[in-house]
Amino acid sequence: MGELELLRSELLRCRECEELFGFEPRPISMGNSCAKIFQVSQAPSIHVHRSGRSFDDISGRKLRGKWYEISDETFYDPDIFYISSVGHCYPGKSKHQGDNPPPKICAQKWLKREIDVVDNEMFILIGKAAADFFFPREDFTDLVFSDHTINGKPSFVLPHPSPLNVKWFKDHPEFEKERIKDVRKEVHMMIDPLITE
Ligand code: SF4
Repeated sequence: MGELELLRSELLRCRECEELFGFEPRPISMGNSCAKIFQVSQAPSIHVHRSGRSFDDISGRKLRGKWYEISDETFYDPDIFYISSVGHCYPGKSKHQGDNPPPKICAQKWLKREIDVVDNEMFILIGKAAADFFFPREDFTDLVFSDHTINGKPSFVLPHPSPLNVKWFKDHPEFEKERIKDVRKEVHMMIDPLITE
């Protein structure tokens, strides 16, 4: 068994947060160790918790169709995208708006190890929780509108495509008008040579 397969078999059995959540956790992570783009988001939604497939929800459709402009087949090609998050399980519904924050322990326990074994060429961070993990002292909006590197690899920060994020999009219309075009171009330069459809 390869390093990633071993790691994933451990990850899928993780029940560390069962008491915190009050239900059985379902860890989710997809992709191969040779994936070109390592994508990190916040945590699975309730829909993803039920389906077991990352970004199998409204946010995912916007991310693939409107932002990246790629097909579902390309997004779920394990040699193209490694899809992970700072919290690998749906964390339950918040008493306020949206879901609970991802448990801090998860990224330390699993994401760091995934980063070590995946030989990606680019990082894409989605949402503030992912951005804060990699760039803890930086302003989120500044991160979205500038280019970065993680471990010497080109890296981009996107806002979360969730419909709950409506205020951020309203306050920053230049993201969907301009900035996303830059990120889309970088994504296509990286993956188009691999697409056979
Ligand atoms: S959120 Fe992370 S640490 Fe908690 S149970 Fe899921 S995989 Fe384990």
